[in-house]
Amino acid sequence: MELKKEKSRTAHIQLGNPVTEQAQLKIAGDQATTKEANGKQVIRGAKSHTTGDGAVSVLGLPRGGEPSNAQLQLLRHHSRALESAHPREIIAWAVKQYFPKLTMATAFGPEGCVILHLLAEVEPRVHVFNLDTGYQFKETLELRDRIATRYGIQVKFERPELSVQEYEEKNGGPVYAVDADRCCLERKVRVLRRAVAGFHGWMSGIRRDQSPHRQNTPIIDWDQKFQLVKISPLAGWTKHQIWDLIRSEDIPYNLLHEKGYLSIGCWPCTRAVAAGEDERAGRWSGAAKTECGLHVQG
Ligand code: SF4
Repeated sequence: MELKKEKSRTAHIQLGNPVTEQAQLKIAGDQATTKEANGKQVIRGAKSHTTGDGAVSVLGLPRGGEPSNAQLQLLRHHSRALESAHPREIIAWAVKQYFPKLTMATAFGPEGCVILHLLAEVEPRVHVFNLDTGYQFKETLELRDRIATRYGIQVKFERPELSVQEYEEKNGGPVYAVDADRCCLERKVRVLRRAVAGFHGWMSGIRRDQSPHRQNTPIIDWDQKFQLVKISPLAGWTKHQIWDLIRSEDIPYNLLHEKGYLSIGCWPCTRAVAAGEDERAGRWSGAAKTECGLHVQG
């Protein structure tokens, strides 16, 4: 299904909490212009928000600074409003707000494949990238080609500056074996920081029921770490909903899932899990580490 783009839209949002004196924000949906108003600049391509007092703010990356309290309140408002929306609607919201300054990161997990499937319906031109650490499974890399064949979406590989060989030679061996946090920082986090530079919003496939750490994930949030808006369309979905859609829509998925790998990262840090184990038990198994650092602040 392809969503028809509205040519223009004006909506009034009543905020439950006052945003300074601005009780009402008037959203000018498709005004993709750059202009000055009250000293604040509107970013081209982003949706402008004309506040009750005439000031103009942007629901996106503020140019050269942190978002204002009003912008954070607006993000929270949208997040709450989208809480019960289908992921397709959330993706459509993100596209409407941020495309073409919208990007998506995927490790080709089942969640990422579901988002790609929905994105193909909503706006297949959204920029999508994969953090190719050099340690990914061949099945993961092959899935990129299957996605391209099915949807025509070319997922861009974003890679660290050093190849695996160069990295291991420089460090006297594999860093993941002695300091996995540093390895993730250098081969994932820093690469993502570079990859999202210039975008106003990024989408990820994390779900609240994946781990205690992710249980409070909002649908829409300001990502302090990477300095742009983060959209998690599947935050409220369960693993069963993900797999129900994969099966009903015949969505491509990583074949390693059929071999007991429920959550798949880099091959040195991923193992298959036994029946009854937590779905992320195979990630950095035996270590206290549970996250690569992309979805944690600080
Ligand atoms: S998951 Fe393992 S191999 Fe991949 S970047 Fe992190 S520590 Fe390195």
